[in-house]
Amino acid sequence: MGAAPIIENKAMTTDHEHSDRPLSDIEIRVKALESLLIDKGYVHPDTLERLIQTYEHEVGPHHGARVVARAWTDESFAEHLRADATAAVASMGYSGRQGEHLVAVENTPEQHNLVVCTLCSCYPWPVLGLPPAWYKSSAFRSQAVIRPREVLRTFGLNLPESTQVRVWDSTAEIRYLVIPMRPEGTQGWSLEALAGLVNRDSMIGTAVVSR
Ligand code: FE
Repeated sequence: MGAAPIIENKAMTTDHEHSDRPLSDIEIRVKALESLLIDKGYVHPDTLERLIQTYEHEVGPHHGARVVARAWTDESFAEHLRADATAAVASMGYSGRQGEHLVAVENTPEQHNLVVCTLCSCYPWPVLGLPPAWYKSSAFRSQAVIRPREVLRTFGLNLPESTQVRVWDSTAEIRYLVIPMRPEGTQGWSLEALAGLVNRDSMIGTAVVSR
């Protein structure tokens, strides 16, 4: 695949209604589905709007970043996370759709973890929000399993040969959260400061955390 464009997912926003840009096929289909569900009385337009607002503005990688920072600083929490990530994350108040069966995978010098959904775009919403556009692209979905090292290089990540790359395929049942390695020289940092270092891509595995 070529350089992965880091484009935020805007497919579900409503702001395109005020632009002159023609709707894409998928946007037209989403709109048609939306109208149908509303017309049939299956969903209320306010509920739909609230859902979109929540996942676009409230739930996001800042949740996952706090989970990672806590795992770095609190060994009993890290153990809880290894044993039952869904429960550990819920204990911080993060739960809900697409996060029911969460598994945390820890990066080590020996093993780097990369998450993909080869089938569609399964993603741990409660801790990362909505997936980026590249995560849903067919290029990423197919190449991440075939040549993960090359894919990581397109993200600017060159791992040492001694580090094994393990690819995890998300499904409707299991969603993965990568726990990146804590960077050197951050001893004594506050949870907030540490969380501030952790970005979305490092929790998918296409980046590492640095100071
Ligand atoms: Fe999927």
